[in-house]
Amino acid sequence: MEFEEWELRHKEAFFEIKEALSYLEGIFVAYNSNIDAIKHLTPEDLCHLLELFDQDALQERVELYPREIKEPLDILARLLLSMREGKAAEVPTYTPEIHSWLKENLGFDYARMGGQAGIITNLLARLELKKVVAYVPWLSEEQAGYFANTKNLLHPKIERGKLVLKHPKEAFKPNIGSKVNWIFEYSKGMLVDCGTDKFTVPRDNRLILSSRPKWLRLEMDQQIYAALDSLGPLDGAILSGYQMIKEEYEDGATYSDYVGNSVKAIEKLKALNPGLRLHVELTSIQNRLIRKTILKEIIAGRIHSLGLDTVEVANALNVLGEEELSYAVIKKGENGIIALYQGAVRLLQALALERVHVHCLGFYICVLAKGHPLNLKGHRNALLFASTLAATKALHGKVEGLLESEASLKVPVSEKGLEDLENFKLYCVGRKLCTLDEFEYGYVYGRDHNAVFVPSKVVSEPKATVGIGDTISAGAFTGMLALMKQNLAGKGKNSKRKEGSQTLETRVFSA
Ligand code: ADP
Repeated sequence: MEFEEWELRHKEAFFEIKEALSYLEGIFVAYNSNIDAIKHLTPEDLCHLLELFDQDALQERVELYPREIKEPLDILARLLLSMREGKAAEVPTYTPEIHSWLKENLGFDYARMGGQAGIITNLLARLELKKVVAYVPWLSEEQAGYFANTKNLLHPKIERGKLVLKHPKEAFKPNIGSKVNWIFEYSKGMLVDCGTDKFTVPRDNRLILSSRPKWLRLEMDQQIYAALDSLGPLDGAILSGYQMIKEEYEDGATYSDYVGNSVKAIEKLKALNPGLRLHVELTSIQNRLIRKTILKEIIAGRIHSLGLDTVEVANALNVLGEEELSYAVIKKGENGIIALYQGAVRLLQALALERVHVHCLGFYICVLAKGHPLNLKGHRNALLFASTLAATKALHGKVEGLLESEASLKVPVSEKGLEDLENFKLYCVGRKLCTLDEFEYGYVYGRDHNAVFVPSKVVSEPKATVGIGDTISAGAFTGMLALMKQNLAGKGKNSKRKEGSQTLETRVFSA
């Protein structure tokens, strides 16, 4: 695969989508936002933490692999587990005292907007969309301060019985607490020496401690639900945060209540906007029952598009009864990319989706149901646009706007990503999923689906890594919607109306 060719394609895609974004009316984003307290762990920090605990007790806890943080020892156990593999992890805590213990014993470097919906809202607002409507059920005054200060960013509020749209700073709920998550970042090469455990951290990554205060409920306010028609025209909805649903609540409510509520909100949004496309951004969900319920009851047959990373593909396959494929995805190895592609296809089929977008370090794959109204070049451009946004986020820790993103076109396409895709070539061409030429374009034609893949830009020394996945998924989904809207207006370069001189690159696929 040609490095230079993919650099040029990134450029072309960026400017094409930049222009198309103005065709969008509005995007709705719900539900989760929080404040991230970030601490980059130094060897001294780790030593200090290790000194606070008995080493034998710590080793025992590591072996227990705590799935929830109930006391400080659990934090250190999960931290060691994450650092040994250099593997990102997210663990919930329902214990408010953990926050005060961390403030007292460690402290944080800085705080910023966190949570998928919060990150995605700020991204879309800064991409200058006409309207981005965020909805966060627990919008506190403090939390509102972390939203981008732009006029296009709005949040629903009930005033004198009517739904009005205002900036979050004027739409927050008074007297509500804030959800603060802790993010412990660590660097490759750090030497960890504790008891019998001695290792060097193999890669930069992080452990997230996700706070789940008792009052946190994933639901839509009744009055807002009743007045959803006042949100105005919307092209798409990006939904996330379902991982917060608990099996049981102290007041007797169960996950079924919150799943039911979520489904009602989806159905109402769809009924009000018949052309609306919905995307769900998945993240790790420890509880298997909740993971399976979200996939089968909220996503399957209702949602169009799903965004996720490799681990999440494996986890989703696992609860859908595809243990073998799930294992092949997680094992990676030489055939990892093939398993990943097959896994994405299984998710597309099992959940009756229109689009499954998997992002990895160095490449993205997007599997599409036959008959999608946008051609493969459009889908490829959407992924390439997302890759440039990801580079911006990795370079600066945030995406300030389109101008800043344009500058990150200079970040090179990942050589490793190109190499991984070469491994995929033999499989695709051998199975007659595409010709060699089609593969060079990034196009695959399956029996009951199509796919596009791209090598992506990777920043060698990223400023931050949290939220890049959300940026990729939201950027690609929004880019795709923008191209579809532009085509509908007959203005797209690849619009069906301008198909006269169709080349392979602009081939429109059909069912
Ligand atoms: P998050 O949930 O924090 O968004 P994910 O695991 O979902 O994290 O996504 C991380 C994605 O970010 C990876 O799949 C990769 O595509 C991208 N990424 C990570 N590091 C870099 C980097 N240095 N440069 C560009 N992209 C990166």
